[in-house]
Amino acid sequence: MSLLVVGSIGIDTIETPFGKAENVVGGSSIYISLASSYFAPPRLVGVAGDDFPKSAIELLKRKSVDMEGLEIIKGGKTFRWGGKYHLDFNVRDTLYTELNVFQSFNPKIPAAYKESEYVCLGNIDPVLQLRVLEQMTKPKLVVCDTMNFWIEGKLSELKKTLERIDVLLANDSEVKLLTKESNLFLAAKILRKMGPKILIIKKGEHGAILLTEKTTFITPAFPLESVFDPTGAGDSFAGGFIGWLAKTDDISDENLKRAVVYGSTIASFCVEKFSIDKLKELTHFEIETRYRAFRALTQFQE
Ligand code: AMP
Repeated sequence: MSLLVVGSIGIDTIETPFGKAENVVGGSSIYISLASSYFAPPRLVGVAGDDFPKSAIELLKRKSVDMEGLEIIKGGKTFRWGGKYHLDFNVRDTLYTELNVFQSFNPKIPAAYKESEYVCLGNIDPVLQLRVLEQMTKPKLVVCDTMNFWIEGKLSELKKTLERIDVLLANDSEVKLLTKESNLFLAAKILRKMGPKILIIKKGEHGAILLTEKTTFITPAFPLESVFDPTGAGDSFAGGFIGWLAKTDDISDENLKRAVVYGSTIASFCVEKFSIDKLKELTHFEIETRYRAFRALTQFQE
């Protein structure tokens, strides 16, 4: 099934206790597209300046990402973000956010993309997320990610976007910020009233929770001995999740559970290297092997 991905295209500088990567490829749409490309060929809509590396564009094309929706602004500067992780990788400080070409971005969905059945709205300004949805014909499933930057800065706009989506992906601190409720299960009820009927609460190294009307499903994160750079883990999760759904075209609760495990699988690879370095070189064999290892992690005999 067809899959549309919209989100940021960025140049990141990342500091972790294990090292620093300066001016590396990032942005939510890049991680989501690469992650989902292992399941279904994504169509990307986003904006970059002409300082965005051509090699990254070529890489995405090689990974069957349709780039017709990529806008390159001549003389423009790509979105830039700097982040620093603490020893506890769940704690991240944003050092700077430079919107640059995003400031005047008005997403134009190419005619060929408008009928996409699966839509993944990566973390960008909620006003832009809504503009994307207004151009779509009738998507079957809309997944949306956001972050504290937008919850704190554009709450009323974000609430309008939430009314139009099916699945919200958010980490536990974002859920608390958005609902002012510290119990995640009570917060989920509040969120459901705001729009999305399916919620995925990401808990970093502690895994993820899927909540639908009838199902509560909890997965661990894959037990890794070396986590190098958590940047993009959430977006890779989103890409693996929606990629699997677009590939199988099945949004039953049972298949949503599989999608959550595929999301967790891809995210676990993402954090093993800086930036997109691991995500760009995965094989289907590696993905399937780790997916099965996830099952073994949670099975037990009565
Ligand atoms: P994640 O670690 O999954 O939250 O995603 C990290 C990516 O999000 C980085 O590559 C950043 O370039 C991008 N990012 C950070 N802040 C923002 C923002 N305010 N809007 C859009 N994208 C962002």
